[in-house]
Parts: sequence; C-alpha cells; structure tokens
Amino acid sequence: METSPVSKKFTRRFVAGETLDDEIAVCERLERENVCASLDHLGENVTTLEEAAQSRDSYLEALERITAHRLPATVSIKLTQFGLDLSEDACLENVRKLATRARETGSRVEIDMESSAYTDRTLTIVSKIAAEFGCARSVIQAYLFRSAADIDRLNREGIPVRLCKGAYDEPRSVAFAGKREVDRNYLALMKTLLDQGTYPAIASHDEMILDEAFRYARERKIAPDKFEFQMLYGIRRDLQKRIVDLGYRLRLYVPYGTAWYPYFMRRLAERPANVFFLARNLLRS
Ligand SMILES: Cc1cc2nc3c(=O)[nH]c(=O)nc-3n(C[C@H](O)[C@H](O)[C@H](O)COP(=O)(O)OP(=O)(O)OC[C@H]3O[C@@H](n4cnc5c(N)ncnc54)[C@H](O)[C@@H]3O)c2cc1C
Repeated sequence: METSPVSKKFTRRFVAGETLDDEIAVCERLERENVCASLDHLGENVTTLEEAAQSRDSYLEALERITAHRLPATVSIKLTQFGLDLSEDACLENVRKLATRARETGSRVEIDMESSAYTDRTLTIVSKIAAEFGCARSVIQAYLFRSAADIDRLNREGIPVRLCKGAYDEPRSVAFAGKREVDRNYLALMKTLLDQGTYPAIASHDEMILDEAFRYARERKIAPDKFEFQMLYGIRRDLQKRIVDLGYRLRLYVPYGTAWYPYFMRRLAERPANVFFLARNLLRS
C-alpha cells in the first residue's frame, strides 16, 4: 500500500508529501496564511536501533530546514519511532539529541502519545526532557481515566500539554468508550489547562469543543497568546480558518514521509465518511 502510486492520490489530503521538501513547501504556505506547523516525519514502532537513529537524524534535518526557512514550527515525534520498544535508555538519548538542537534553534519537541501501553514510559521521558531542556510538550488523551491526575502533575511541573481525545483502540478498563463521556472529560480537562496550564494546546476538530474554548477564554479573559489550537493537516479547513479569523493561534500537525499507513488508518477509523472519500478516489484511479 505504502509504495503504490495509486495510494499517493488519496493520502495527499492528509499528508504533505513524501519528502522534507514537500513538507517545507506546505509549512511555508501555511505560514503565509498565519498558521504555524508541527512537522511529523511518519513512522512508529521501529524494530532496530539503527532505524531509531535514522528517525532521529531525519528530525534533526527537519530542524535545520525549519531554522533555514525561519519557520515558527515545532516537531512532533513518537517515542516508538525513537526506539522505545527496544531500549528506554537509547530512546531517551535520541530524544536528548533532538531536544538539544530544538533548544538551540528556538523550536520545541512535541511528544505524541501512543497507546496506553506506553503512557507511563512516555510521561517519564517527557518529564526528563522538559526538566533538562525546557522545550518539550506532552500529549494527554481525554479518553483515559488517568488523564486528570496526569494533567495536574504536568501543570505542577510547568510542562505544556496538547490535549486530544485519543486515537487508539483502548480497553474499557482504562478508557471511556462513549463519545459523550470522552467529550465531557475533554471539556473538564481543557478548562483545567486553560486556568492552570503552561501554554496549553487545544487539539480537536470538534466544533462544540472549539465553541466552548472560545466562550471560556472570553469569560475568563484569557488572552489569545496564552494558548493555541492545534488541528491535523487536511481536516476541517473551515474551522481552521475560523480560528485564525477570530485572532487565535493555530498550529497544524503536518505529516510527511512514506510510512503513512498506520496514520492514515487512524484517520479513516475516526470518520466513516473518509472511507467513501477513499473508495471514490480508488474508483477514479
Ligand atoms: C494536532 C493533533 C495532534 C494529535 N496527537 C495525538 C496523539 O499524540 N495521540 C493520540 O492518541 N491522538 C492524537 N490526535 C488525534 C485525536 O486524539 C483524535 O483522534 C482526533 O483529533 C479526532 O478527535 P476530534 O477531537 O477531532 O473529535 P471527534 O469527535 O473525533 O470529531 C469531531 C469532528 O471533527 C471532524 N473530524 C475528526 N476526525 C476527522 C478525520 N479523521 N477526518 C475528517 N474529519 C474529522 C469531523 O467533522 C468530526 O465530526 C491528535 C489530534 C490533533 C488535532
């Protein structure tokens, strides 16, 4: 699937392209539209430490290009892409190298949250990187029961949080299963972050969530530069425009690379209509 030329057509909606050049071109266009980016070099669950080192190096190259093009961009990584399944020490060292360069260049390393099997290990590494370099952002998933406690701790440590609903298929023993419960938890966590967090990121395409964020920020007189909204590249462009038009900060998560399959499948699973979009494109080609 990943190498088929037919696939390119339908992945282009969610993925900037296969190369760093494609990615930078998209980020430059976004910057002209007053939108920041977070660069995601697609890949996860590497099986050798050599692959993990290659992932780290590809991100180091991305930071160089961000600097050369003076983009107000961050990088988003997955720890399983940096070797977490193989060696926690090697993974931490890889992230340290990236964070060193991110700090020097005034950027930030956003550490995506993967399935609940990785939550503890991910948060441990986030805390270490934040304490040593100060340029890390954690991700918290509103569908997990544990998230309120995690947010309280991250707030106390002054670590910025990206709040999302969560994209993995989790057991009922650890996560809310229904949309209503997840949404309710999201709103409660979002308000805690807006009140007590350090430059939080509200990551959602849910209009109800965004309307409540706008309302709450106005009610509490929280200035637009105290937090940002984040969305995925290619999703709900109407809402992206609305955020910018209202004068709020928006950062898009922009993936690139050839290993798009798991990312793309999570986006399909989130919205059945995407499967029709995919089928239409397959039939056309
Ligand atoms: C910047 C960013 C970073 C993220 N990082 C992580 C992470 O590190 N770990 C993690 O587990 N999850 C991550 N996610 C994914 C997140 O957890 C959700 O799975 C995803 O955002 C869908 O949730 P939602 O808040 O948009 O609300 P939903 O209730 O799922 O959707 C609300 C509306 O948004 C639109 N929408 C949502 N998804 C799609 C889609 N795929 N295609 C088209 N329209 C869509 C639809 O209009 C839908 O009705 C991230 C999301 C964002 C925006």
